[in-house]
Amino acid sequence: SLIYLNGDYVPHEQAKISVFDRGFLFADGIYEVVPIYNRQPFMFDGHMQRLQNSLHEVGITPPLSSNEWRSILTHLLTEEALDHAILYLQITRGSEFPRNHSPSPDIQPTVMAYLVPFTPPVGEPTPVRVELLEDIRWLRCDIKSISLLGNILLKLQSTAGGAQEPILHRAGRITEGASCNYFIVKDGVLITPPADSLILAGLTRQHVLKLAADAHIKVREAAFSTAELYAADECFMTSATREIIPVGQVGQEVIGNGQCGPVTRTLIERFRASRPR
Ligand code: PLP
Repeated sequence: SLIYLNGDYVPHEQAKISVFDRGFLFADGIYEVVPIYNRQPFMFDGHMQRLQNSLHEVGITPPLSSNEWRSILTHLLTEEALDHAILYLQITRGSEFPRNHSPSPDIQPTVMAYLVPFTPPVGEPTPVRVELLEDIRWLRCDIKSISLLGNILLKLQSTAGGAQEPILHRAGRITEGASCNYFIVKDGVLITPPADSLILAGLTRQHVLKLAADAHIKVREAAFSTAELYAADECFMTSATREIIPVGQVGQEVIGNGQCGPVTRTLIERFRASRPR
């Protein structure tokens, strides 16, 4: 596929960066993942806002404006002839020799983006099993950082046990997954952890909260415990690439009746109806 790299468009085999890039040396960078339906980015402004927020929090001056990102996206969509796609974009602090923790003030960011084909989920949702694990990550999970070793170790641990994803907790309070947010339903109320620095504020999460409000479902953004998770009527995960996936089991415990529950089903239907067409 075609890669946008620092102002150029190059075939992926020719897209090269320095071994002294701080992304490579320190995972010193941030990224975004934007779903595109029918050639239209979904929640583009929200993604641009989160991108600006991540850049601001790590002290990288935004190298491109939202309009410039939109032009890059349009160019990639045209060249790749894709209707549905996932835009991956990454900005690192830049490249400098020799390796030094302190970047020089005039360092130029490395900017990269490309599209991957995307098949929006259709049909009956299949409940998955997740595994409860301790959240061993750092305390700035609100930054969409490319430093994902914690997330990857937890993902590997969960999949080694046959689960889809970890569901993470800190001292018994649920945070999120390795690459998704979680919701539970109890007595008709939809509950998800607050968007503080312990989780990434998913755009899918934000959209689901709005869809729930539209459907007159009671919503609470509040911490919940592992005990509340096990006692929930329904549980589901959200992410841009997976949308909404019902959780039927946490470890060996069945959640609700283990099937896709009515609130989850309503939200999936509303989500699919809200995709750009
Ligand atoms: N939490 C983490 C740690 C993630 O990496 C992601 C994204 O994949 C999410 C939550 C969900 O965010 P979004 O709905 O914007 O994809």
